[in-house]
Amino acid sequence: MSSRSIDPALLGRFAAIVGPGHALTDPAEVAPFVSERRGLWLGRTPLVLRPGDVGEVSRILALATETRTPIVPQGGNTGLVGGQIPGPQGTEIVLSLSRLNRIREIDPLSNTVTAEAGVVLQTLQEAADAADRLFPLSLGAQGSCQIGGNLSSNAGGTGVLAYGNARELCLGVEVVLPTGEVLDDLRKLRKDNTGYDLKDLFVGAEGTLGVITAAVLKLFPKPKGREVAWVAVPSPSAALALFSHALDRAGSGLTAFELVADIVVNFAVRHVPGVVRALEAPSPWYVLVEVSSGRSPEDARDLIEQILGEGLQQQWVTDAVVAASLAQAVAFWRLREALSDSQKPEGASIKHDVAVPVAMIPAFIEEAARAVASVAPTARVVCFGHMGDGNLHYNVSQPVGAPSAEFLALYPLMNKAVHDVVRAMNGSISAEHGIGRLKRDELIATAPPIAIDLMRRVKAAFDPAGIMNPGKVI
Ligand code: FAD
Ligand code: ZN
Repeated sequence: MSSRSIDPALLGRFAAIVGPGHALTDPAEVAPFVSERRGLWLGRTPLVLRPGDVGEVSRILALATETRTPIVPQGGNTGLVGGQIPGPQGTEIVLSLSRLNRIREIDPLSNTVTAEAGVVLQTLQEAADAADRLFPLSLGAQGSCQIGGNLSSNAGGTGVLAYGNARELCLGVEVVLPTGEVLDDLRKLRKDNTGYDLKDLFVGAEGTLGVITAAVLKLFPKPKGREVAWVAVPSPSAALALFSHALDRAGSGLTAFELVADIVVNFAVRHVPGVVRALEAPSPWYVLVEVSSGRSPEDARDLIEQILGEGLQQQWVTDAVVAASLAQAVAFWRLREALSDSQKPEGASIKHDVAVPVAMIPAFIEEAARAVASVAPTARVVCFGHMGDGNLHYNVSQPVGAPSAEFLALYPLMNKAVHDVVRAMNGSISAEHGIGRLKRDELIATAPPIAIDLMRRVKAAFDPAGIMNPGKVI
């Protein structure tokens, strides 16, 4: 099936569904859909379809199942595991959801927004804000990633600690099944125990079970006060003690707790324009702490000052600066968000996106450093992430001045060494970014066979012709 090129007459039948101008075949127009920003994945496709409504998506998938033509759904193309990129054979059609970009309804009393898959995350955040509500999903790619992609990858980001990941923010979905049938489950219910939770199967499925065309998402009251601090801590265990204390004091008002190693602050200041250090004196580790209050700005201020004051007393904190203005708060977040992009100029990087129980973070950091050193003693550990969620971006940059190719040849060995530490702690080898093509083989090789078997049975039940994003996840 997927080794045969698609018959031109069949391509014409697909193109006719979306009409002229929305079926792209010109290589220059197709190029942005078959590569991604880091240049890690490059695919081929004879056709990119840009349907304008749910009916067109339905006709495309029905034809795909009838003719056994593989389909790769794509949102904002910011995924980090290659899930949205077609394979190299040129036998899969890319289905872009970006024209399904209407916000269908904001319901401030039910605290919900109903949005189509192609709505850009930042557009949704701004629409919620204009309705005096908060949509809390927040991540570095928010200017281009889309709601359908966020749900399909069950995106996390910096708001998970207080508000949950994309799955927890989703109340209902509208999905086109591979047969072309439409599952309309766009309900706004906070409670609904009527059988299996089908929507949760599509969330995080990375486009392997069907195409999400719209969703009902939760909105929240906008905080009345918000304070952000950049805090120097001597060690990951001090950060953990501070986290536990801050959570105790602020409860659900602790809206971010991000751990950052000094080396990656230096990378960001060196390579990302406009990024400045938040604290002049270096410290081995920092945390970005955000506290929100539903009551008042003064309340948030008092809370963060109390937390940091007690942290200083206990010597979990060695120095701290609370943002004195909105501009400074934005600058602290800018520094945090620049970390992902700051690594490439330092050469090759071997990435890990791991989760362990929060209490195990200090032990993980210690043991993983030993594991890295056993593979490449002079490589540089670049560790940062969502400490409050137990999720670290544990990356390893090549030794200074060494040949990149030589270092990249260590990718499988390095992954195994770090992931063995994760597995020994009952952790996850993909906390945020999913499986896609990047981690498919490792998932299949290391997950319990019964789990893989169940996933395959679910896949076969939803997609018997195997047309949805083949070669991804399982
Ligand atoms: P795409 O990349 O287009 O697709 C992602 C997957 O979903 C693919 O498998 C695709 O086939 C499938 N898909 C897309 N749309 C649909 C649909 N409508 N129906 C069915 N399947 C679909 N991720 C995090 O979780 N947390 C972070 O903090 C984070 N930070 C990032 C920072 C940067 C700078 C970048 C570049 C990426 C970051 N990511 C992060 C990864 C990425 O942004 C998220 O995974 C995002 O949710 C993907 O959305 P997208 O619209 O770009 O999806
Ligand atoms: Zn992240």
